[in-house]
Amino acid sequence: MNSPALVDQPTARPREPRRLAILGSTGSIGCSTLDVVRHLGGRDAFEVAALTGHTNIRLLASQAIEFGAEFVATADDSQAAQLKALLAGTGIESGAGHGAVIEAAGRDADIVMAGIVGIAGLAPTLAAAARGSDIALANKECLVSAGALFRKEIARGGGRLLPVDSEHNAIHQCLASGGRERLERIILTASGGPFRNYSLTQMSQVTPATAADHPNWSMGLKISIDSASMFNKALEMIEALYLFETSPDQIEVLVHPQSIVHSMVGYSDGSILAQLGTPDMRTAIGYALAYPERAELPVERLDFTRLSRLDFHAPDETRFPALRLARQAMRQGGTFGAVLNGAKEKALEAFIAGEIGFLQMAEVVEAVMSRYGSSNAPDSIDAVFAADAEARTHAGEKIAALRSAA
Ligand code: NAD
Ligand code: MG
Repeated sequence: MNSPALVDQPTARPREPRRLAILGSTGSIGCSTLDVVRHLGGRDAFEVAALTGHTNIRLLASQAIEFGAEFVATADDSQAAQLKALLAGTGIESGAGHGAVIEAAGRDADIVMAGIVGIAGLAPTLAAAARGSDIALANKECLVSAGALFRKEIARGGGRLLPVDSEHNAIHQCLASGGRERLERIILTASGGPFRNYSLTQMSQVTPATAADHPNWSMGLKISIDSASMFNKALEMIEALYLFETSPDQIEVLVHPQSIVHSMVGYSDGSILAQLGTPDMRTAIGYALAYPERAELPVERLDFTRLSRLDFHAPDETRFPALRLARQAMRQGGTFGAVLNGAKEKALEAFIAGEIGFLQMAEVVEAVMSRYGSSNAPDSIDAVFAADAEARTHAGEKIAALRSAA
């Protein structure tokens, strides 16, 4: 006798391979994405339409060969010939320069991982959004700088926006419980970075190498330093504002040094929902790639019996002024997100180059932001790039002034 089918028995239906493009495949997010792809079935599960990189051409070529990518692009014009040579005989197409990265982003793909760091990721991600691919968004700068305009492009293209930043991914998962209209608060957790307990004097003396040494997460250089200054959390506050369309007052930041609770949402009945896990970006990446299903991944499982404690405390906005500056940017709206990010990127580059101190990054951003009154929301992407460029110029002037005063 046949036993009746169980209602919740999983149906073994073979899935068509999905077409995937990865912008920034050679970075931390890009490499983790390819690792998730390996675990989800590799070439049987995904057709890699395009990969992009910048300086690490050898890694880019080896990724392209391993995954049988159709097209590879490096943002670096000068490496066109080397990339071609590394791919000789493979049948893989390649291109170099900004236009080639945009071309990669616009290739036919069901889902595009936006994993380029900084404002450099905006134009390619917009190209992917315009053609209607689902966007797995790691590049927070898209929403910080272009906010509503970026959302509009996604809506116009018709793809879905799936947050990969671990906090926003956590919130996305929590909001799946429904009751969105009763959402009261979003609580972004922050590890507090390596200088969580440092005095201002200690912070004034830190080097880029110590700032890049994140206690819990393994990430690219720039986001690691941004985590130490909490500019990463500042960007994430603005990212959450546009992603979840809340008011600035609904967004809170809570320091949680263990990075186990990835973020929380609170409802008007007093309920708080949280998403927890060990700190491994592959969970968030796998969630976005498998959505709305769940991926099976070899991520270390959380063992509650081995967690000695979970701590939470309010952030110190005196030592971490980035959070205060993010609130100002959210309140003022307009191009303030682009201005904050542009000035921050310029200041971060100057810190990495040893031109200014760690605390002076916030000083530069604050000086640039204070030059602006209120501003209208940018009405075009060109307006976003113009605001970004102007903020960088002002930041450069402030950096020069700080250096000559030193
Ligand atoms: P990364 O520095 O490790 O990698 C950046 C990637 O972007 C590389 O592939 C690089 O080749 C490419 N790139 C750099 N400059 C470029 C340019 N001018 N033009 C085109 N491509 C360029 O950075 P990451 O840590 O992987 O971060 C990527 C994005 O994801 C950032 O926006 C970051 O804030 C966000 N993010 C990262 C993590 C993480 O765990 N690493 C977590 C959350 C969010
Ligand atoms: Mg994050």
